[in-house]
Amino acid sequence: VKRIVLAHLKPRWRGASLALCLMAIASGMTAAQAYLLEPIINKIFVSKQSAYLIPIGVAVIFVFAVRGFTSWANNVLMSYIGQDIVATIQTQVFRSLIRQDMSYFQQHNAGRLSSLLVSDVMMMRMAMADALTGFGKNVLTLIALVGVMFYQDWKLSLMAFVVFPPAGFIVSRIGSRLRQVARSTQEQQGILSGLLNQSFLGIRQVKTYNAETYEDARVGDTLSRLTKLSNKAARVASLSMPLSELLSGSAIAMIVLYGGTQVIEGVSTPGKFFSFIGAFIMAYEPLKRLAKMNAGLQIGLAAASRVFEAIDTPQKILDKPQAATLIVKEPTLVFDRVSFAYPDGSKALHDVSFTVPAGKKTALVGPSGGGKSTCLQLALRFFDIQSGRILIDGQDIRDVTVESLRNALGYVTQDVFIFDDTITKNIAYARDHASPQDIIAAAQKAAAHDFITRLEHGYETRVGELGTKLSGGQKQRIAIARAILKNAPILLLDEATSALDNESEKLVTEALNTLEMGRTTLVVAHRLSTIRDADQIIVLDNGRVTATGTHDALMSQGGLYPSLYASMLTEKPESHAA
Ligand code: ADP
Repeated sequence: VKRIVLAHLKPRWRGASLALCLMAIASGMTAAQAYLLEPIINKIFVSKQSAYLIPIGVAVIFVFAVRGFTSWANNVLMSYIGQDIVATIQTQVFRSLIRQDMSYFQQHNAGRLSSLLVSDVMMMRMAMADALTGFGKNVLTLIALVGVMFYQDWKLSLMAFVVFPPAGFIVSRIGSRLRQVARSTQEQQGILSGLLNQSFLGIRQVKTYNAETYEDARVGDTLSRLTKLSNKAARVASLSMPLSELLSGSAIAMIVLYGGTQVIEGVSTPGKFFSFIGAFIMAYEPLKRLAKMNAGLQIGLAAASRVFEAIDTPQKILDKPQAATLIVKEPTLVFDRVSFAYPDGSKALHDVSFTVPAGKKTALVGPSGGGKSTCLQLALRFFDIQSGRILIDGQDIRDVTVESLRNALGYVTQDVFIFDDTITKNIAYARDHASPQDIIAAAQKAAAHDFITRLEHGYETRVGELGTKLSGGQKQRIAIARAILKNAPILLLDEATSALDNESEKLVTEALNTLEMGRTTLVVAHRLSTIRDADQIIVLDNGRVTATGTHDALMSQGGLYPSLYASMLTEKPESHAA
């Protein structure tokens, strides 16, 4: 609450103060309604003075009209302020999340993160809208009405107040119970969006394995847990109703007994009594709202704490203070005694050293799980290594800015990611202000221009989520076009393991050859043609470099390489033939 007030409400103090003034007027008018009961009853009903009819009628209309207008203006103003705050917070959450390093995304799945941005912030918005518009207004109204009560009869007022301490206690107990329920609800909500996301993204697998029922059941389980939790929340939240009815009923009974006696004995007037009881009954409404609001507020606060936690998660991979810009004159890449374990503790590289000479092609080969892809990710600084150094043109990659480092590296992976956008935008992702000519030139070099122009809207065709409207080979060529447009001096390539048909294979190879031309290339090789062309081959087994050399040298050395080569021969006869 403090953070919302200081960081978000304070900068908007002008609007907030205006809203507060409007609230104060509206509350004053509510109190005036209760106060007016006194002259209405005493002058009109008891002493029957007709001269009061018109002025009192006018006063009633005035009070209602002013109250209506100020309440409206206040609501509108407060919801503007609330929306503005929510949008600011959402921007902050996204800004913080998208800059987190890879280990964060490994621990938090995409669905949960979206749920944080959408559903948690929505909860916060609702609670805040309630709190901002309702809290001030109800508190002020309560104060004004209590003022009328004390003005009319202070002894009666004190009696009525016996009810408040137990009511307050009940409300706060209910609030803390609700906060617990809300936290579990949001957790389940996150799990649900995670599941939904995965079932839809993995729809092909779902269908292939006839897993619809399995997915049904998983989602159904979470949904039923959610239902149970919302039922619990409803039970707890509504508990305040019977309890407060009972309390206020007893209070009214006491007031009627004592106040009635006073009027009968002539100590007080009926007008005073009804104005008092009017104020008391009217005070019940804001009080009830405040109790209910407390419930909503607890739910909102549970969401807010998750949201702020996300905003405050520190980035792990940061530039050192005064980090230099990476300057690449001779694009060499050196791994110097690099050891690395993933954040979950799984060891991936031990004391790995190799040099990728400028302008040459170096292939990484080895059994699956040997650490080949890890090397590429470490060069990109997706993770920081635990010991050793990675150097580009003699500069330690941890001493230069992350931005300049990633500018110097092209990265094409086997699982190509295509955004649900146009082809143009997908290629231009590599460079913000690329001209249409540059984009077309890149596509031509990537052997993608022909298929793109055959699409219905050419370069402006939207390719669907994850590029569902493209074939595997087409997606790869888009990714290659992206990398060609980026034109980075060093290229990191993770070759696709899945075989393409011969025609696609030929086109992709052609595109890759263009991309590699003149660049320092480190490639995780799965194709025979790649290792045969490589200037140098590094064999990685179980996180260690076990051999280095050209194809011919490695073949004659014996050891792991010849058997690896033999297994590639049998796996991929088609690329052998090519
Ligand atoms: P390769 O590319 O040679 O098949 P990887 O570099 O992908 O091998 O993996 C090397 C080792 O690191 C494997 O034991 C693998 O299980 C582990 N590993 C890979 N990626 C991760 C990750 N994101 N988190 C934890 N462990 C990982």
